[in-house]
Amino acid sequence: MIDIKTIAEKDRLSVLHPFTQLREFASGKIGDPTVVTGGQGIRIQDAEGRSYIDGFAGLYCVNIGYGRTEVAEAIARQAYNLAYYHTYAAHTTEELATLSDRLVRMAPGKPSKVFYGMSGSDANETQAKLVWYYNNLRGHPKRKKIISRERGYHGCSVISGSMTGMSFYHDHMDLPFPGILHTGTPHHYWGAEPGETEEAFSRRRAAELEELIVREGPETVGAFIAEPVLGTGGITPPPAGYWREIQDVLKRYDVLLIADEVICGFGRTGADFGSTLYGMEPDLVTVAKGLTSGYVPLSGAIVGEKVYSVMEEAADRVGAFSHGYTYSGHPIAAAAANAVIDIFEKERLSDRARTVGAHFHKQLKQKFAQLEIVGEVRGVGLLGAIEFVADRQTKRRFDPELKVGARISKAARDRGLIARAMPHGDILGFAPPLVLSEAEVDEIVDLAYRATKQVM
Ligand code: PLP
Repeated sequence: MIDIKTIAEKDRLSVLHPFTQLREFASGKIGDPTVVTGGQGIRIQDAEGRSYIDGFAGLYCVNIGYGRTEVAEAIARQAYNLAYYHTYAAHTTEELATLSDRLVRMAPGKPSKVFYGMSGSDANETQAKLVWYYNNLRGHPKRKKIISRERGYHGCSVISGSMTGMSFYHDHMDLPFPGILHTGTPHHYWGAEPGETEEAFSRRRAAELEELIVREGPETVGAFIAEPVLGTGGITPPPAGYWREIQDVLKRYDVLLIADEVICGFGRTGADFGSTLYGMEPDLVTVAKGLTSGYVPLSGAIVGEKVYSVMEEAADRVGAFSHGYTYSGHPIAAAAANAVIDIFEKERLSDRARTVGAHFHKQLKQKFAQLEIVGEVRGVGLLGAIEFVADRQTKRRFDPELKVGARISKAARDRGLIARAMPHGDILGFAPPLVLSEAEVDEIVDLAYRATKQVM
């Protein structure tokens, strides 16, 4: 039997929890930590015996669902055979070579090589270094600035945290780092002028990006980083024409495109990658989360031919590629990723996210779009969001003090559904495991609806 009180006490005294109000936690105001004990399919259980539908797949990562023995067995097999060896100076394992070959074949753009890390944050940190390295090696030492978007999320290490375009991730942490800039969010609902079409709004956002590049000096701008579908900043699919317009600008000024596929990759949007869905041709691609479905930490910075060829060409002159981690290409993580991608392919999870996702959006719209407090219902594939507003006509927001999104999320949780109160605005977000059924979609939508009615 688990002693919940002892676990909670040890935790409270010793764990520094991410994204937690420290004083409220230390004082017990927000209660004891939830001790999570198990997971099966789309559900997790806690130590008090409660079961929850995980409508957010952990943090948008457990795409194949919990408790997949195939993955657990692959992890154990690799741990028994060879728990660890490094990949420095051309060492490898069968699992790693197999995984890399698969990723280079399936990733968007013109992928050449994969560099491995442990998190989306460190992979984006690597992408920044690759942009700088590439431009130094090809004789453009001034091309160092990286442009990201307001409300983009790219992690919280020094550079990835700077790329993240929400000020509360920067406050009191001396971010953003110099040379990381931000341009406007492509969210039509909030950003468009009255009567402005999605296409016209996309053109305006692209023109703003172009103005920023010109203002900074095109010879100083190295890359643009973006999620195909904006995730943590509000689960916002791009307006029509956005990626075409943006890529035209990037090409015109020889600016690299980094597609942050940490959420979108591996089926989340209903295509294998968000880039594929929106016709993006990235030079660098970041993957994490769905790569191992969260079973073990692993990320990849996938380097396109254009960047890699410059790196290899310069090698005799500059020496070894001096970047890497003890755990780059960890064999257990590679084995887990191969087992996850086997499931992803066998169960056609991209197709599933598209078809079950279509049912999900239909249900969400049917239940929520007419509610007086709902400004927008949006999403793509198995990513969805409901944005709550105080006044639909004027789009007046709720007073933040009312914490409407957080209260609805809490009410959903009390009913056994995890749906995330997104950090920016009153938004209830959904990103369930891709293996869920239409009946489970109905259950999620119904629980979310009842939670909303309870609060408002
Ligand atoms: N990029 C995107 C698009 C993300 O959503 C996240 C995390 O949510 C990250 C990067 C950072 O990944 P990690 O939390 O593994 O560092």
